[in-house]
Amino acid sequence: MQRVKGVLLYSGGLDSILAAKLLIDQGIDLTGLYCILPFYPPDLNPEDLESSKLAKQIGLKLEYYRCDKEYIEMVKNPPHGYGKHINPCIDCKLFFIKKAAELMLKINADFVASGEVVGQRPMSQLKHTLNHIEKVSGLKGRLLRPLSAKILEPTIPEIEGKIDRSRLLDISGRGRKRQMELAKQYGILNYSHPAGGCLFTDRFFSVRLRDFFTHQDAFTATDIYLLTIGRHFRINGSLKLIISRDERESIELEKLSGFADYFIRPEFKGPSAFITGVLKEEDLDLINSIISRYGKVTETENSLTLISKDKSSREITAEPAADDTIIDSMRL
Ligand code: SF4
Repeated sequence: MQRVKGVLLYSGGLDSILAAKLLIDQGIDLTGLYCILPFYPPDLNPEDLESSKLAKQIGLKLEYYRCDKEYIEMVKNPPHGYGKHINPCIDCKLFFIKKAAELMLKINADFVASGEVVGQRPMSQLKHTLNHIEKVSGLKGRLLRPLSAKILEPTIPEIEGKIDRSRLLDISGRGRKRQMELAKQYGILNYSHPAGGCLFTDRFFSVRLRDFFTHQDAFTATDIYLLTIGRHFRINGSLKLIISRDERESIELEKLSGFADYFIRPEFKGPSAFITGVLKEEDLDLINSIISRYGKVTETENSLTLISKDKSSREITAEPAADDTIIDSMRL
């Protein structure tokens, strides 16, 4: 007999792991869809993520979706608005559920499941919001929340007897006690924190992203990753500077230097600089002084190499910062 197939929206958090366990233990042929947020390096191997290792541990096979331009366009203009910072939680969930629905159709599965719990989060998991997400995603009757299933209307695969509803749960609210007990029972350790790793909920990252959306129309997922690296300075409306904070970031910026309009390498111990926009001759002194402020300029080691997008380069002499207050006012 052919096994019932399902798709699970998998995040690596405890709730999605428990939802997976409840379904896999019923013998369902489950595929997890893991959506990789744009905060990870472009050369990331998703198999190396802790969440991938956890999925393997519970016998959940994964498909990956890497958040790209389409996702970032949604973050820029979320129809349901933002949460406390620049987190578009309702539209983000809708987006991922739609991706899971596409996978469901592709692999001929019966339903999409998620680890959502009724009433757990203020905005995205209230009962009426869960119903709204189900309606808008086009999954009416096929969106299953195994952890709260018994307090929600039965889904089509439950009614058809493809899923045993009696083996699903009735968890609701913000408490985590039952989930923790289940984790212990299943021997699940090392799961990630709910919303952990989502920088859209971070106050400082939100400032950078709002600045980015204000000044740049065209973008890629790599631009969003760049917002996670280094110190950022808005020099003027058409010029932005990123400088590394340590060796790891210098290496990372160097790897991505092909995306920069200009790149500066110090010939002394100091930060690399990644520049986007229109660099005018009169901006150079300021940029030079910012880099010099964070570097160890000496009498003999004091030059910078400025490389343009066309790979032409020239040497400039490092000059320490004249006025720190101007520099600080440009910091994002
Ligand atoms: S916390 Fe981040 S990843 Fe989670 S739903 Fe909100 S925006 Fe999406």
